[in-house]
Amino acid sequence: MVTPGKIICVGRNYAAHAKELGNAVPERPLLFLKPPSAVIRDGATIRLPAESMQVEHEGEIAVVIGRRVRDADEAAARAAIGGLTCGNDVTARDLQKSDGQWTRAKGFDTFCPLGPRVRPVDGTTFDFATLEVRCRVNGVERQHGRAADMAFNIPALVAYISGIMTLEPNDVILTGTPEGVGPLLDGDVVEVEVSGVGVLRNPVARKGAG
Ligand code: MG
Repeated sequence: MVTPGKIICVGRNYAAHAKELGNAVPERPLLFLKPPSAVIRDGATIRLPAESMQVEHEGEIAVVIGRRVRDADEAAARAAIGGLTCGNDVTARDLQKSDGQWTRAKGFDTFCPLGPRVRPVDGTTFDFATLEVRCRVNGVERQHGRAADMAFNIPALVAYISGIMTLEPNDVILTGTPEGVGPLLDGDVVEVEVSGVGVLRNPVARKGAG
């Protein structure tokens, strides 16, 4: 895995998850950014910051851009997709609500686990709707989503985002989380599995603890 230049995230892309947090699915993809400094690899520790009492997991299908693209139609968007990996959009839910915007809640160091590998895909032919994502905490399944249930599908997301910002090789798109988000506590182990890709596993510990 290489470090992404930018990480573009999609909020409320599964109706059931939007509903569980009291939100509607937006008319257009709801975008935000996570900083590349938040990225950690498979096996590295998610650190719970003292500022938050409610850090949550968000298991997500992550798309890795393979070639530079801007203002893409769906065919060009598909051609720009280079691979898939697993992502965890770790979120300080209390700070997300109290801040009114999401940079702090989503941007702490260690809040973007990615991995364990990039599965190369030919986006021109790959059936993205067959993908599934699961999230487990201490071996217990908390989330299970199907890309077929996304409000905006993966090629449509790439096309939409490329109309706003040029996408570069190794940029990563986190495509939204299904329902079942919940707390991460000191000592937990969280796993995100994307079908055909692998399992991303990260322990959780308080920031500053061993
Ligand atoms: Mg998310």
